Amino acid sequence: MSATLITNIAELVTNSANLGDGSLLGVVTNAALVVDNGYVAWVGNALDEPSCDERIDAQGCAIVPGFVDSHTHLVFAGSRDDEFAARMSGEAYDGGGILKTVSATRAAPEGALRELTKQRALELRQSGVTTVEIKSGYDLTVDGEMRLLRLAGELTSETTFLGAHTVPREYQGRRDEYVSLVANEMLTSCAPLAKWADVFCDQGAFSVDEARVILTAAQRAGLGIRLHGDQLAQSGGARLAAELGAASVDHCTYVTGTDLEALAASGTVATLLPTAELFTRTGPTDARRFLDAGVSVAIATDCNPGTSFVTNAVLTLQLAVTQMGLSVAEALYAFTAGGARALARSDVGGLAVGQRAHLALLNGPRYVDLVYRANPQPFRRVLTF
Ligand SMILES: [Zn+2]
Repeated sequence: MSATLITNIAELVTNSANLGDGSLLGVVTNAALVVDNGYVAWVGNALDEPSCDERIDAQGCAIVPGFVDSHTHLVFAGSRDDEFAARMSGEAYDGGGILKTVSATRAAPEGALRELTKQRALELRQSGVTTVEIKSGYDLTVDGEMRLLRLAGELTSETTFLGAHTVPREYQGRRDEYVSLVANEMLTSCAPLAKWADVFCDQGAFSVDEARVILTAAQRAGLGIRLHGDQLAQSGGARLAAELGAASVDHCTYVTGTDLEALAASGTVATLLPTAELFTRTGPTDARRFLDAGVSVAIATDCNPGTSFVTNAVLTLQLAVTQMGLSVAEALYAFTAGGARALARSDVGGLAVGQRAHLALLNGPRYVDLVYRANPQPFRRVLTF
């Protein structure tokens, strides 16, 4: 593949403090970038740009690394609009929650499920996401979880086995048997289709002890681990994530100061999900607590039918700034380099030499516009070479 020069970039966010203004985002002004064979091969001032076979004129607009959305549940069928409307009306309502989605997903033909998932992934892509993690967890049978992981694997290498999402109806009253199924036969069958294993470890979901059994089995099977923790209560999920060396613990709405110390020591990323809090009317998490404690932060959409049916990544970024206390630069870093770290990836999440050329070209000259302006089309193009 021949090299491509992208030039006339008003602001190029590289996420490399060695470049440009030396800030967290490593912003190069009046920049140019060379892409060779899918990777960034050169970054610098446009006055010094080399000549290349292909040339893209950014027309004075800003370029940022594509977002790395490290937490989604894109493979599902059906809707939970009734549950959402009831919650917003303040009504007590039990429409089945996750189990309602499990029923709809089990019943969905493969072709239909593939199209639904592809459409959601496309919407994320159009809003700037160039790397996406996708979890299973809406079938909860051995064959069904494999089916969801195969569909996820058609769209990303960041596939996550979430057999421990909830206990399915046929195992009600027999949760120990279900935990054993997940940690043994289901895990063994799903491991070849997954990079990660995840557990919903929270009050009313799986306990710390159950999560430990499943996640340590997943580690023995060669999977990386991550978990949903401390979304609904102080559940010990973050502490467990630190203890086991998980790549990420996600939600973290109720973490304590001790949890933060443990996360900082283990290097586990705290993935914050601002839209899940917005659409459940949970007060926003104070992201500053995490940064002040030395914890790496990522943000993600948590796209799922129950609590965050969000395929607008820019909204997620905007909430991380306006509701969670991050600066624009910190939030952009968290949704790019932070997401990459949560997925243990160094090749994405930035635009330094040697990283993948996954980038989004804004409709204006300043990266701050992504948060400052809530316009319907913030990006002119989203490119993955
Ligand atoms: Zn989730």
